[in-house]
Amino acid sequence: MSFFEEVGNTMGSVAQTAITKSKNLAEITKLTLDINASEDQIKTAKLTVGNYVVEKGMLKEDETVQEQLRVIEEKKALIAADKERINVLKNMKPCPVCGAAAARNAKYCSECGADISAVEAAGQKAAGQDAAGQDAAGQKAEEPKAEEPKAEEPRPATVLCPKCGSVIPGDAGFCPQCGEKIER
Ligand SMILES: [Zn+2]
Ligand SMILES: [Zn+2]
Repeated sequence: MSFFEEVGNTMGSVAQTAITKSKNLAEITKLTLDINASEDQIKTAKLTVGNYVVEKGMLKEDETVQEQLRVIEEKKALIAADKERINVLKNMKPCPVCGAAAARNAKYCSECGADISAVEAAGQKAAGQDAAGQDAAGQKAEEPKAEEPKAEEPRPATVLCPKCGSVIPGDAGFCPQCGEKIER
C-alpha cells in the first residue's frame, strides 16, 4: 500500500466513524424522547387507575387507599372552609340555587332571582335532605350558560331597583332586596 493510499484509507475510516457516531447520537436522542413519552403515559395511566378506584369506591379495606382517601376528604373540607372564608372576606355568599356569588345580606339572588332567605330557611329545617341541594346543582349547570352572551355596552356600576328603590349592582338580573326582575 502506497503512502497516499494509506492516508486515504485512514481518512475514510475517520469520516465513517464520525458519521456512525452522529447517527447513533440521533437515534439515542429519539429513543430518549420515546422513553420520556412512554413514562408520561404510564404516569397518566396510573393516575387514571387511581381516580377510577376513588370514584368507584374500590379497595376501601386497603390501608394505603384509606390513608389517601383521608387526605382527599381532609383537603376537600379545607377547600370548602377556605372558600367560605373568601366569601366572608368578600362579604359574599354563594346563591344556594345557582351558586352565583351574592352579597351576604342579599335576600334574593341577583343572577337567578331565587329567594335566598327562604331557601336557606328551608335548607336548615330539612338538614340532611341532600336531594334538594342536588336539584339545585343540576339547575346551576344550565342557567348561567343561557345568559352568557350579554351586555356588550358597559353598564353603570349601580342602578336603582324600579320596585323597591334599593341601590343594586349594575349587572344584577334581579334585585337582591326584593327579587324584582331587572331588565338588562
Ligand atoms: Zn342564584
Ligand atoms: Zn328591589
